[in-house]
Amino acid sequence: MSDATATVFNHNVSARHVGARVDAEPPVKHVVVVGGGTAGWMTALLLANSAYGKRLRVTVLESPQVGVIGVGEGSTPWLRGFFESLGIAESEWMPECHATYKAGITFDGWSTRPGYEQYFHSFASMLDNMTMAPFIDNVHARLKGADVHAHPNRFFISAKLVQQCKAPRPQASFPFDVWYGFHFDSVLLGRFLAKKAMERGVQHVVGHVTDVRLTEAGDVGSLALKDGATLAGDFYVDCTGFASLLIGKALGAPFVSFKDNLFNNAAIVIQVPHDGAIPPQTISTALGHGWVWKIPLTTRYGYGYVYSTDFCSPENAERELRQHLGLPDADLPARHLKFRPGRVAEPWRRNCVANGLAQSFIEPLEATTLLFVQRSAEMLVAALEKGDIGEAARRQFNDTLNGRVEGTRDYIVTHFKTNTRNDTDYWRANAANTHLSAPLQQLLRTWLASKPITAGIAKGTFGRGYPIMSWYSLLAGVGLFPDGTRAPTAQEAKYDMAEVDSLIARSAMNFPDHREFLKAIQPKPQPPSLQVYYW
Ligand SMILES: Cc1cc2nc3c(=O)[nH]c(=O)nc-3n(C[C@H](O)[C@H](O)[C@H](O)COP(=O)(O)OP(=O)(O)OC[C@H]3O[C@@H](n4cnc5c(N)ncnc54)[C@H](O)[C@@H]3O)c2cc1C
Repeated sequence: MSDATATVFNHNVSARHVGARVDAEPPVKHVVVVGGGTAGWMTALLLANSAYGKRLRVTVLESPQVGVIGVGEGSTPWLRGFFESLGIAESEWMPECHATYKAGITFDGWSTRPGYEQYFHSFASMLDNMTMAPFIDNVHARLKGADVHAHPNRFFISAKLVQQCKAPRPQASFPFDVWYGFHFDSVLLGRFLAKKAMERGVQHVVGHVTDVRLTEAGDVGSLALKDGATLAGDFYVDCTGFASLLIGKALGAPFVSFKDNLFNNAAIVIQVPHDGAIPPQTISTALGHGWVWKIPLTTRYGYGYVYSTDFCSPENAERELRQHLGLPDADLPARHLKFRPGRVAEPWRRNCVANGLAQSFIEPLEATTLLFVQRSAEMLVAALEKGDIGEAARRQFNDTLNGRVEGTRDYIVTHFKTNTRNDTDYWRANAANTHLSAPLQQLLRTWLASKPITAGIAKGTFGRGYPIMSWYSLLAGVGLFPDGTRAPTAQEAKYDMAEVDSLIARSAMNFPDHREFLKAIQPKPQPPSLQVYYW
């Protein structure tokens, strides 16, 4: 076994060291962020946190007549690094946003292979380094037909925490860090971020852009607002959502569609109150023409059916969702949304960077959009801090980002491509889809030839954007193995699953109940304000 297989992708969060100050003047003085959705405020906060401090002026402009999209309730573990880099404690933001912890995602009903109808995609823990080798070696043995245990759920601590509804926050004495993400109310998160950004000096302008005026050279020069005012900066971030007002409409960056790779283009969202146990996971259940997310917040579940209008009408999709929830006649409002999967060809064009939905949207299966918002803003801040916003910096930014978006797209495509459902044209078309990137085709060919894909992922030949653990969890989790098994050799049977089970069961004892932990981080009640007292 190669060393690479033994190491979990443990990107521990890297907090920025606020305090290091760049002496030089920033290469731009005033950044105008157009759009006050989550993308706009996250970008503004990271810009305001740059090493230039107040010398970099940041303004967020949002329209009074175009609202935010108001969905996006799950994150990857990177969001932890976002808050840590800003010095914002979980006890401050989580209660305000009704947030819960997320240890990973259960995929339910994507595969019909016996024993593999459901699997859990764990976020990694340092502890998983101890069970990663048994998992990878067993998967390799199973690919060669050996009858060994190769389902991911038994190998990783997060799967156990989910079963037991425990928070992925171990006692201080537990010596292993756990990677975790969050669920949150996206509207409340937007409000919280706006409040923090304004506290930190970000200016807020309410105005509807009616015209993006370009300079003679073709840069964005200023924004004409509906009330007759003009707003100008020397650099712009387009966070106008799917409107893509600056980068797409004004600067003409072409759109690269992922429609051939990913069929879904619509979603229906329903919220259902709850007060039960809180499993720290998103559940993604395959339905007839797409999949449904189930996201637990402290006060309610968020459900969303992501489907393709090419295969199912919105009315039928809503009926299917309500039946799935067991609430066919409940008086719960449903919101219908449309989206287009894809990315702009150049997320940084001239003096404008696109972020959020204005930049790219794959589809929400792995809840990755805010990750790209964060990474894009961090990369922009890094370029500004280097004082380098020239052609080479722009090219590097675009190449890096586009590569990551496409790698993530390929991982998401793999969920659809490997499905074995045969109940609808939708699932059959997904399984038959040949619009796969060259790296993804190579990865799947290697796996189907029963060869390890570890080295290819480690070298970046294929599988960009996701770690070895995730690729193995997906492909083994849906049971993509040769038919039939034989007795394992002594070498193939070298791992004792009872030892793995025992290690994980003992470790799980160090984690608290999720709901109790969330209650404990509620902020202390504040005394009534003077205003309330006199009123
Ligand atoms: C179905 C679905 C599920 C999703 N699930 C997830 C998830 O689980 N995890 C995740 O990370 N992401 C998810 N996303 C993506 C997530 O919703 C977005 O990335 C996030 O909300 C940020 O959106 P945004 O700020 O880019 O755009 P929006 O929220 O749409 O904000 C756009 C802003 O632009 C402003 N604006 C527009 N036009 C003008 C104008 N003319 N003048 C001035 N201002 C203007 C608006 O006022 C608004 O403030 C999901 C998206 C969809 C569609």
